[in-house]
Amino acid sequence: MALAPNVYDAEPIPEAARIEIERLLGSGDLFRYTSDEPSPVALLEAEFAAMMGAKYALAVASCSAALFLSMKALNLPRGARVLIPGFTFAAVPSSVLHADCVPVLVEVGDNYRVDMADFERKLAGDIQAVLISHMRGHTSDMDAILHLAKAKGVPVIEDAAHSLGTKWNGRTIGTLGQVGCFSFQSYKLLNSGEGGILITDDPELIARAIIMSGAYEHNWKKHPVLQDYFARWQNKLPLYNTRLSNLSAAIIRPQLAEVPRRVADGRRNHDYVAEILNRSPWLEVPPALPPEDRAPDSIQFNVIGLSPDETRAFVAAAEARGVKLQVFGLSRDNARAFWNWQFLGEIPDLPQTRAMLMKACDTRLPVRLRKAELDFIASSITAAAEDVMGAQRAFGT
Ligand SMILES: *Cc1c(COP(=O)(O)O)cnc(C)c1O
Repeated sequence: MALAPNVYDAEPIPEAARIEIERLLGSGDLFRYTSDEPSPVALLEAEFAAMMGAKYALAVASCSAALFLSMKALNLPRGARVLIPGFTFAAVPSSVLHADCVPVLVEVGDNYRVDMADFERKLAGDIQAVLISHMRGHTSDMDAILHLAKAKGVPVIEDAAHSLGTKWNGRTIGTLGQVGCFSFQSYKLLNSGEGGILITDDPELIARAIIMSGAYEHNWKKHPVLQDYFARWQNKLPLYNTRLSNLSAAIIRPQLAEVPRRVADGRRNHDYVAEILNRSPWLEVPPALPPEDRAPDSIQFNVIGLSPDETRAFVAAAEARGVKLQVFGLSRDNARAFWNWQFLGEIPDLPQTRAMLMKACDTRLPVRLRKAELDFIASSITAAAEDVMGAQRAFGT
């Protein structure tokens, strides 16, 4: 029998990174602001901004730090209420708390996207910003979200941690709102272990974010942007020191050229597996909204007509066949199930999101997988559904 593919390892880091790291280790020049020459971090920012078609970029310690800094740089007042989807990673509501704001959770539908009726209803309340988490790379209706947020006069922050390379109506995800945030954590399309970056076209926002990220004294002069904007904020902002190291930048930079291939391979792999899963009467991969061109490195699908016990049996059957699935709402202490975010204090009731989390399955699909490995994964999942539900069908229950 074929062995289950390893879905946890990332791709190897390109050889060019090793040469640059060797050079940095030799000189000890690991801090972005030491050298008078443009540092690897500064070069990464310039290259990333150019790749995304954004005016400015700031590399930081994580996507969560980028989200936190975005809210601080937008000058949201203490206690500002920020709309976020009820389906996201616990670090996202945490970043809102970290920025002294209050997350307000919006319902998410069976297709993993923001429920627009609930969004509209909650936006009508006392809301000062919108933070859209494109969770697992699924894009909500950004046309409607941008339109409604603009009408209300509140900024939109995009958590595009897992959406690098995704397009919406041909526009790059992360450039639609006032600011877009990305992650370089190992499970994302660009991998430096840890790291993040924010992009924006807003000169005031980037100047404030640069200073608060830790460009103390006159280190902002080493950012090749907007020197006039910094003087205004000199000594007026706290320094949160959440910078990126030159080593991380050296690991990311040679991967930028790999992005188009990784996006294309990820989409091909996802769509191939989705097509097989959709043939099962018990499984459904919800379609993307028409304007979305995706860049997935994992797959989510719903079980149809399975009770929670049957769903647990299905997960166990898939594991026995070598494929690990998680059902967000069924695995204990899952960081993507909103009822586990007890640090929020009061946890709102989101019946629609809860129902989705109880049937939404998730498995990794790294872009490096080959067809035989995808076949193994897809057929193990469909066979596991058959293991659990097929007997029932035979007996007509
Ligand atoms: C990974 C991820 C984050 C957190 O990114 P870090 O760089 O680990 O802080 C936030 N949001 C989404 C949607 C993610 O996938």
